[in-house]
Amino acid sequence: MEIELIEGDITAQSVDAIVNAANSSLLGGGGVDGAIHRKGGPDILAETRKLRAAKYGRGLPVGQAVATTAGRLPAHWVVHTVGPVFSATEDRSELLRACYINSLRVADELGAASVAFPLISAGIYRWPVEDAVRQALTVLRAATPATLRTATLVLYGAETAAIARAVATT
Ligand code: ADP
Repeated sequence: MEIELIEGDITAQSVDAIVNAANSSLLGGGGVDGAIHRKGGPDILAETRKLRAAKYGRGLPVGQAVATTAGRLPAHWVVHTVGPVFSATEDRSELLRACYINSLRVADELGAASVAFPLISAGIYRWPVEDAVRQALTVLRAATPATLRTATLVLYGAETAAIARAVATT
């Protein structure tokens, strides 16, 4: 699988699947989650509500991933995953890697050839950007998916993109 790093807005990506850094409620939130629901329209929320009612009464557990269609977005699917909140006292990096592993699996099961990720947990959930990139690349570089050919890490803002590029070359 080819890995690309780009600076941009994930809601504008013309890929088969984009990943949403959702929260457990699956009912929308701030950051990238808010942007996806705002631009994708109400169909996405209608589907996550149904998923919540049918399968995840107590919310989607941290590290897991589920797919919906993508409403008005250029992508075909949104894979919703819940990142861990950063902790300075507890190593939660396995859960962060699980987000990437499970999102890749879900995208692959959908038959997607391309998937785009935001930097999960690196916003409201306060994960340090450098390590968030490192965790993402660890999983993406080790992945051996069946249908996925390209994974894009979409970095929001020039500063985040510069940090990511530096991490990727070390
Ligand atoms: P979390 O709650 O998992 O931390 P956030 O959405 O707050 O999720 O942030 C995750 C990352 O996504 C951050 O690096 C943030 O800057 C970035 N981000 C926010 N909006 C967008 C967007 N439209 N496209 C891509 N990345 C975004």
